Amino acid sequence: MPENGSPAAWPSSNHTQTTVAKSDKTTEIVAITALLRKSAKSTFLIPDFGFIAESKISTPTLVKPERTYRTEAAFVNYDHQLPEETYDVNDLKVCIASIDNGPMAILTTDTFFVCQSCGYAQEATQSRLPFVNSIKQQHIAPSGRRCSCDSLEKFALGYRFETDVVRIKINKACNAEEAYSVLQAILLSACAQLNIDNREIAGCLQYCSAGIFYYILYDTTPGGAGHVKRLNSHAMLTAILQGAYRRAKFCDCGGEEGDSSCYSCLRTYENQRHHDMIKRKYVVEYLEGVNDMEK
Ligand SMILES: [Zn+2]
Ligand SMILES: [Zn+2]
Repeated sequence: MPENGSPAAWPSSNHTQTTVAKSDKTTEIVAITALLRKSAKSTFLIPDFGFIAESKISTPTLVKPERTYRTEAAFVNYDHQLPEETYDVNDLKVCIASIDNGPMAILTTDTFFVCQSCGYAQEATQSRLPFVNSIKQQHIAPSGRRCSCDSLEKFALGYRFETDVVRIKINKACNAEEAYSVLQAILLSACAQLNIDNREIAGCLQYCSAGIFYYILYDTTPGGAGHVKRLNSHAMLTAILQGAYRRAKFCDCGGEEGDSSCYSCLRTYENQRHHDMIKRKYVVEYLEGVNDMEK
């Protein structure tokens, strides 16, 4: 089962709409637009009824099991018309929408070949055919009998939960890599301002329009813990964005240019998958406009 709290969603580059289809099987099928994948929609399954382990179970050992599957978060609400407040933070225009009980999804970035008849699943990335969308394979259903269906289709797995969410938009274009670094700076700065642990809130990017991303911040406690709600004020947003800027500006990793990041500025355990991509210089360039200090 995926763990909660993964902050890292790579942005969708091309999303349209979320559609939800209920199947009469043991899973709900939700089509969601591509997250990691560059285009088109991807579909994920919500294992509502949990998992059944294989009948062959090896003897337990004292070695801690590896965390097998990587996950990413996504905000499952594509309503561009959410009521927003707009604030000028020095030179940047910032819009923020607060959403109570916002729908979030946590998805595996690894995919699985799943039988839609009995629910049998195997990891696609370990398969000999990781790039195809379906495979033919006879298998034993959870009932112990051979399944009559031999076609397995590829899905990500995921689950949904509701929590407090804020959606921040800054009216300045950048690319996805830059936006991802900016998101990390905003998250860390927000935790510092709110005086909370880094794992209390998490974030992901959502595509808005060409070059513009939404920075989605959410409480990792399902139901919300009241943290991100506090961000919706001019004073708080100013403090957070200026803090994010300073965090990147006044580190010394990656030399003068800031062509890197480190654990004192923008890297965390939670964003380790993308450490190579996170660069101080992106944040400094992007948020320069919020700075009211001597330049
Ligand atoms: Zn089956
Ligand atoms: Zn650094």
